Amino acid sequence: MSQQQQLVILGATGSIGLSTLDVVARNKTLFNVFALTAGNNAKKMAELCIEHEPLYAVMATQSAAEQLSSYLNNTPCQTLVMHSQQAMSDLCAHPDVDTVMSAIVGAAGLLPTLSAVEAGKKVLLANKESLVMSGQLFIDKVKQHKATLLPIDSEHNAIFQCLPHSLQNANVDQNLQKNGVSKLLLTGSGGPFLTRDINTLKAVTVSEAVAHPNWSMGQKISVDSATMMNKGLEFIEAKWLFNCDTRDIDVVIHPQSIIHSMVQYHDGSILAQMGNPDMRTPIAHALAYPERIDAGVKPLNFSDLCDFSFTKPDFDRYPNLQLAINACSAGQGATTTVNAANEIAVAAFLKGQIGFTDIYKINAQTLDDATSTNVQSLEEILECDKLARERAAKLVTKVIH
Ligand code: NAD
Ligand code: MG
Repeated sequence: MSQQQQLVILGATGSIGLSTLDVVARNKTLFNVFALTAGNNAKKMAELCIEHEPLYAVMATQSAAEQLSSYLNNTPCQTLVMHSQQAMSDLCAHPDVDTVMSAIVGAAGLLPTLSAVEAGKKVLLANKESLVMSGQLFIDKVKQHKATLLPIDSEHNAIFQCLPHSLQNANVDQNLQKNGVSKLLLTGSGGPFLTRDINTLKAVTVSEAVAHPNWSMGQKISVDSATMMNKGLEFIEAKWLFNCDTRDIDVVIHPQSIIHSMVQYHDGSILAQMGNPDMRTPIAHALAYPERIDAGVKPLNFSDLCDFSFTKPDFDRYPNLQLAINACSAGQGATTTVNAANEIAVAAFLKGQIGFTDIYKINAQTLDDATSTNVQSLEEILECDKLARERAAKLVTKVIH
């Protein structure tokens, strides 16, 4: 890396955003924070502005931006404060920007991420929902605008690292089978309810659901990990990132989260990427790719690893995983729908409005009621997303009453 990369971090106040800033702070000669964006957490954003001195800080709403300005008023911080999704998108496409970390949670990340892609930036993709909801369109734009797409999700980053160099490029039509790859093995811990009696899942509380055994993450992805919808979204994400078929991907439960995923080759070799479960590893990998930098992550100590186990997922325990895999085979209308329904259902669960097992019921019913078949253009994707949200929200009110 010859000169400092100019970086935009979308979702800077979240779990991935803060881990990214941690890696950046360890490698200040290589990276400069050009802009930070966030939803509503103005207090946290003020701290980040004071520490990292970005040129711009963008909040989702005007009131959050006003709050941020008042926090920064009596400080030496010169950061220019703005608001709106459009401002986020504009900064992602700014000519001085090299790299965009896409770490907003949910569909709200789609337009700013696409803006970075359309400007041909290096895009570090944590926001899996944007790829799940827009698959083909997203990848077509990556190719058309010669953007560099690097996966941050630990599983996809692991697969990327285990692939032959010639396949580490979403810009070209990769062909896994022709390059000796027989399967992508997507690992998942199984979340906090791997061994809990299935009959008690109805009574799961919010604090039980967000208490992931190995990873510390935002609330939505933590619930998705408990239902394994997260692995389902990752299944769809892998299909698009690595240009493969549902037959090419297997999900493997690995409760220790030490192997982050694997690639199986025709000759019987299986390459695995391992490490302590800490998102700073994939973040540092993608930031510096193809070089390697310090991530602040403790190396694995093999003498501490007594258990290393693997099983097949139980779809009775994780029906959301099956639903997402089926949606992946069904096509874009189904994946956009399931993603939208899940965002509504998980938000309702986090607010205490519905039970844990209602998440699946709402997702499945919203998918059953789906009518959109032709979902290709951005307008069609956004319309499909909107209709699915409306249907899911209606189902939530039925559960409440
Ligand atoms: P989080 O909830 O901790 O952070 C989300 C960020 O998005 C925050 O900065 C928030 O302010 C911002 N945001 C929320 N709504 C917004 C809106 N409407 N407009 C603009 N900004 C908004 O979430 P997270 O755990 O950091 O996850 C972020 C993304 O990364 C998700 O898509 C998740 O699936 C993915 N991911 C996270 C992890 C992890 O370990 N946390 C691992 C893999 C992938
Ligand atoms: Mg993951």
